[in-house]
Amino acid sequence: MLTKAIEAIERALLKLEPQRSMRLINLSPPWAVEKIRRARFQRTLRLAAERSPFYRSQFRKRNIDVARIEHPSQLGDFYTTGEDLRSYGARAFLTGRPDTAFETTGTTSPIPKRVFFSNHELEEMGRCSALALYRLGLRPEDRVFSAYDSSFWVSPVVLKMAVQFLKCFHVEAGKIQPLEFYERARPYQPNVIFGEPSWLLRLSEIAKQRGTWGTKFLFGGGENMTEEAREFVEHVWAAPLYLTYGQTESFGTLGVECQFKEGYHRNDLFFFFEIPEVDAEGYGELVYTTLGRDVMPLIRYRSSDLTKIVDDPCPCGFFVGRLAKIRARCDEVVVCGMGNVGPWVFDEILRDVNGSAPDWQAIVRHGEQRDVVELHLEADNHAHADELEATVLRHLRDRFPDFWKNHEMKLYDLRLTTSPPGTLRNGRKLRRVVDQRQMQASPRKNS
Ligand SMILES: [Zn+2]
Repeated sequence: MLTKAIEAIERALLKLEPQRSMRLINLSPPWAVEKIRRARFQRTLRLAAERSPFYRSQFRKRNIDVARIEHPSQLGDFYTTGEDLRSYGARAFLTGRPDTAFETTGTTSPIPKRVFFSNHELEEMGRCSALALYRLGLRPEDRVFSAYDSSFWVSPVVLKMAVQFLKCFHVEAGKIQPLEFYERARPYQPNVIFGEPSWLLRLSEIAKQRGTWGTKFLFGGGENMTEEAREFVEHVWAAPLYLTYGQTESFGTLGVECQFKEGYHRNDLFFFFEIPEVDAEGYGELVYTTLGRDVMPLIRYRSSDLTKIVDDPCPCGFFVGRLAKIRARCDEVVVCGMGNVGPWVFDEILRDVNGSAPDWQAIVRHGEQRDVVELHLEADNHAHADELEATVLRHLRDRFPDFWKNHEMKLYDLRLTTSPPGTLRNGRKLRRVVDQRQMQASPRKNS
């Protein structure tokens, strides 16, 4: 009886119009939502154990009886990694017949990870994203333009499904030059614009000079953004910029910001989230398990992203907990003479230094006597290198006393180089902290 009621809620949540679905979520008691999650997890686990060669052999090797498992944390040391997807191949994970596939390369390997999906999953994820966008204020009368990169990337497809459910006017521009986008979009006066954060920033620089139009909000996905860059975009358009967090492997949205922009509200209906090992501040690698996938479920997938699970209530009142802003890719955290450093350190050092230029790269390499941290910045030609360096050092001293102390003790050298705007990035993603010492120390594997 109870199971039947739970299943009815589950079906209704994913089938109703967004506004009614939202009301139902708010009315459902938390224990009912938890029941739905557990039932979805057990379905996923059974499917994986029965049909996927990868999971079947891994569970057998570890003597895991899936009938006894109620939560991913009971799977002990079993995890799925991006490397597993690459080395076993996506087909080893399949539990059903796929309708489509997307790819992601990330920043560590040129070999793409291939991820397969069904149209049914696409529809469910589209509905779920529609709910999130509805909460942010998207309504049928809005005119949505997207400049998401449509080449093998999942986000534009999920977005298309979502706006279809919300019945908005929608144009997919593709990731074209921001200036071309600006000129071609302008006659339509889109009041909601989607794009990657670095692209939205360039668009806003153009709009600042040429003029804006009435905008409800902007929405960025696919990479991180500094708060400084966000403020610039919001100021130009006089509208909020919201960020989403997701991966191609997860089929898009793992979490979305609310109007308070203090972390991403988790998509708990579609994922179990864990951070098995945390540091003193509660940060660690995010691990997630898909709950709604029937073609290529991911069980305890290591995201490689460093974040924290936040269960304190959010001022917006939504009962779903959050993930903190992603600090870094795990492989971007480097232990060197400076200390344990990652992208958030350099973001903070460069705050108020470089205008709104989003791109920088830190390279750590062996110097003659100590580690050298080379900070490559994009700056206009007329920027004075000496002044820049003085400001960077001042910020290092004021904002990171420990790293400054190590600098004073000459545990590392910090060097600054500048290059013209737009030169650091040559792919969709820029690896921000690169540890070249590993490359110097170990012979190349595949040569
Ligand atoms: Zn909130």
